Amino acid sequence: MTDRTLLLAGNWKMNHDHLEAISTVQKLAWALEDAKLDDSQCEVVVVPPFTDIRSVQTLVQGDKLWLRYGAQDVSRHEPGAHTGEIAATFLARLGCTYVVVGHSERRADNHETNDVVAAKVKAALGHDLLPILCVGESLAQREEGTHVDFTLTQLEESLDGLGAEDLQGLVVAYEPVWAIGTGKTATAEDAAEMATAIRARLRERYGDALADSTRILYGGSVKTDNVADILVSDDVDGALVGGASLSGPDFAALCKAAV
Ligand code: PGA
Repeated sequence: MTDRTLLLAGNWKMNHDHLEAISTVQKLAWALEDAKLDDSQCEVVVVPPFTDIRSVQTLVQGDKLWLRYGAQDVSRHEPGAHTGEIAATFLARLGCTYVVVGHSERRADNHETNDVVAAKVKAALGHDLLPILCVGESLAQREEGTHVDFTLTQLEESLDGLGAEDLQGLVVAYEPVWAIGTGKTATAEDAAEMATAIRARLRERYGDALADSTRILYGGSVKTDNVADILVSDDVDGALVGGASLSGPDFAALCKAAV
């Protein structure tokens, strides 16, 4: 047991338009209530596409829901001439608590380097958004046995230029690329090994207070029937869930299985 709050974040990726978002969040809220879950047991977060966030905000505020929401990406720039970008300040104004940064799909599809990711982490923290920084190795790296070194280097480079005082509230999500959307989950031992290594590296670089307060999530084919196993290690503080977060009742069942 630790005093870090269990965090269950549903990354919808490019699924659900704003109308579907409203019904998904409503069903999630009802199912959480039915399951007798509340914010004393865990933090539940939905991470919809940008175009849904205003609708989610209206619903969460109007119905006084306890769940939180965030965005899947953020610009590294301040507002200005950057066509197609979304500034951290806009997300903060929409009541977002979190922003996912450096997801492997963005690293692959949008060629996001660790430098770019570090600038996004900085932009988020500068506007009181908590980054969920994603790191994790490919299948080839795991098979070569370089997964720990690779992931820790990615972590360090994705936090480059930031000090312990800047990183309060940081969340790290360990997401092995080979386990995302593939149905292949890392074992509880794999998740624990990496979470422990990440926390040790944070301790070395930033000191005890940051290492002890930073939440480390596991992501990659997390489902209702494997989440409890993944969370056995004291170093794993929650999950970043893709496919299994798209249905409100299913995500609520996963959250119930996690607490
Ligand atoms: P998955 O996605 O649960 O569908 O594997 C996880 C993620 O990419 O965050």
